[in-house]
Amino acid sequence: MSNESLANLLKEERRFAPPAALAEQANVTAEAYEQARADRLGFWAEQARRLSWHTEPTQTLDWSNPPFAKWFADGRLNVAYNCVDRHVENGLGDRVALHFEGEPGDTRSITYAQLQSEVSRAANALLELGVRPGDRVAIYLPMIPEAVVSMLACARIGAPHSVVFGGFSADALATRIKDADARVVITADGGFRRGKPSALKPAVDEALTRPGTEDVRSVLVVRRTGQEDIAWTEGRDLWWHDLVDRQSDRHVPEAFDAEHPLFILYTSGTTGKPKGILHTSGGYLTQISYTHHAVFDLKPESDVFWCTADVGWVTGHSYIVYGPLSNGATEVLYEGTPDTPHRGRWWEIVQKYGVTVLYTAPTAIRAAMKWGDDIPAGFDLSSLRVLGSVGEPINPEAWVWYREHIGGGRTPVVDTWWQTETGGIMISPLPGVTATKPGSAQVPIPGIAATVVDDEAREVPNGSGGYLVLTEPWPSMLRTIWGDDQRFLDTYWSRFEGRYFAGDGAKKDDDGDIWLLGRVDDVMLVSGHNISTTEVESALVSHPRVAEAAVVGATDPQTTQAICAFVILRGDEDASADESALVEELRAHVAKQLGPIAKPKRILPVAELPKTRSGKIMRRLLRDVAEQRTLGDVTTLTDSSVMDLIQAKLPAAP
Ligand code: ATP
Ligand code: MG
Repeated sequence: MSNESLANLLKEERRFAPPAALAEQANVTAEAYEQARADRLGFWAEQARRLSWHTEPTQTLDWSNPPFAKWFADGRLNVAYNCVDRHVENGLGDRVALHFEGEPGDTRSITYAQLQSEVSRAANALLELGVRPGDRVAIYLPMIPEAVVSMLACARIGAPHSVVFGGFSADALATRIKDADARVVITADGGFRRGKPSALKPAVDEALTRPGTEDVRSVLVVRRTGQEDIAWTEGRDLWWHDLVDRQSDRHVPEAFDAEHPLFILYTSGTTGKPKGILHTSGGYLTQISYTHHAVFDLKPESDVFWCTADVGWVTGHSYIVYGPLSNGATEVLYEGTPDTPHRGRWWEIVQKYGVTVLYTAPTAIRAAMKWGDDIPAGFDLSSLRVLGSVGEPINPEAWVWYREHIGGGRTPVVDTWWQTETGGIMISPLPGVTATKPGSAQVPIPGIAATVVDDEAREVPNGSGGYLVLTEPWPSMLRTIWGDDQRFLDTYWSRFEGRYFAGDGAKKDDDGDIWLLGRVDDVMLVSGHNISTTEVESALVSHPRVAEAAVVGATDPQTTQAICAFVILRGDEDASADESALVEELRAHVAKQLGPIAKPKRILPVAELPKTRSGKIMRRLLRDVAEQRTLGDVTTLTDSSVMDLIQAKLPAAP
């Protein structure tokens, strides 16, 4: 970004007060902000008491060697015990922990008592394989209960897990196995996706032929799809049902230091090469448990929680596994895609299990908008009481659609900003406290300090934009990049002295609320003005014909960069006939919404946009297209043929 701070173009006046009944019974009230402001560390020390410690911590934060933080350093606990056993000991053994829904329609409901047995057996199995505290275990599984069980089994024996998304290739898996030097891989024959079995084991076999993966001694294989022709390496490969099922269902959890590594997880790779983010135990679990309780107002005795993320992403780690289970919640785990066998599958699941709190991503909301309002309208969604969003800035129109068509116009929508690096939610409304604004994550949660600064690290006044920074350490912060302390320092701590640089652009509105404006790498410079891709995209999406938009700045001789927009049109109407008239209408629409400076030079209707496997738009590839360059790294792209289609549509530069 240049010296001029980010232009503040978008105006959004809609406000939604918390429903009175929810506010009255809310888990967290406005008082929490006061309390945390008065004594931030005391506040977190109190939240740590949500957990059950083997040795209670007497220290809260050790910041003597910044930015390497230690939280609750003299405390000892077992993370899996906190997520499973203690609920059973508290008489909740019969409560359902997981309602599993397989894509083909098979289901399993697993109580906390059953989860305790399964996790204990899996822990005993890993011990039999020689896994010791500190050894890394790679997990490459579909969204089946064994994924959750494996993660908890690792946590239980102090073996950090590295979960690799089941949609990734052998290459991506091999790099991650090698980087973390994993000893064991837990996988499955395959999973179900889009109505068919999709194999996983061959990718593991291939990955393990790559140099640097030799330390993998054992591959534990869950039978999920029952495909028959599966290759087998004797002495290395073992069936889960052979090894795990014969183990004792008793395992006494050992306590580990609060700073014992819990997992390594690689970022999505939206802006570049993925980074192996290291999270530890006590601080992580404290913040994840607290944020799940506070941001979703989770009432474990009555709520049914559903986070639609994959466990391969941080959202799945924190808000499928560690948050809900540490709070003793009942939750849904769904294996498949939202449109198999039909486009109402998610809403059918909400109706079937009476889901009360739904947490999903803008990409899914925009897809549902595109498919049409009548689809969710065909299901009973009245059980829902809180809706959440994560992963990208949510366009105000998508936010309003979500509240209206999924939330029946009743539910608060919490737009939660955070990253793999932050471990848990950092900026979000609280559903019983905050009057929400469509498109804004608004305020740091109690105990978190964030602000927006300019190039010179000065805090910007309300009404201006700049860089999002976190100004105080937080319990679930990353401890380093695995094996690369220098990259940790360079990436996050060198841009602004003593502050964590998130890499995202943001602005503060007139009330001081925070709006996320996309990656700093994506900010455009047009005739001396910094313009946010997010704002131009939101302006496009506010036009009734636009379902999705991705905006990039392409090098331009006159204006430094020119705004180039790729849009997916809504509905089934044939766009080709009136395409050029529509493009003109959309350019005028953006100019009217944001001002003439933000008017796109070019708008290209396309069928699909390039997205990471976690659903984020990859603008850097579109920039390559717009500037007619060779494409950069596409390994974390869902479907690389999308790029061929887009390139084919692009006329020669005018
Ligand atoms: P990489 O760092 O490798 O490029 P990534 O940043 O996509 O990958 P994640 O940690 O999964 O990997 O994503 C975090 C990013 O997602 C944030 O930095 C932010 O840009 C975006 N994000 C997440 N939630 C929100 C939100 N509610 N509003 C706006 N942006 C969000
Ligand atoms: Mg990132």
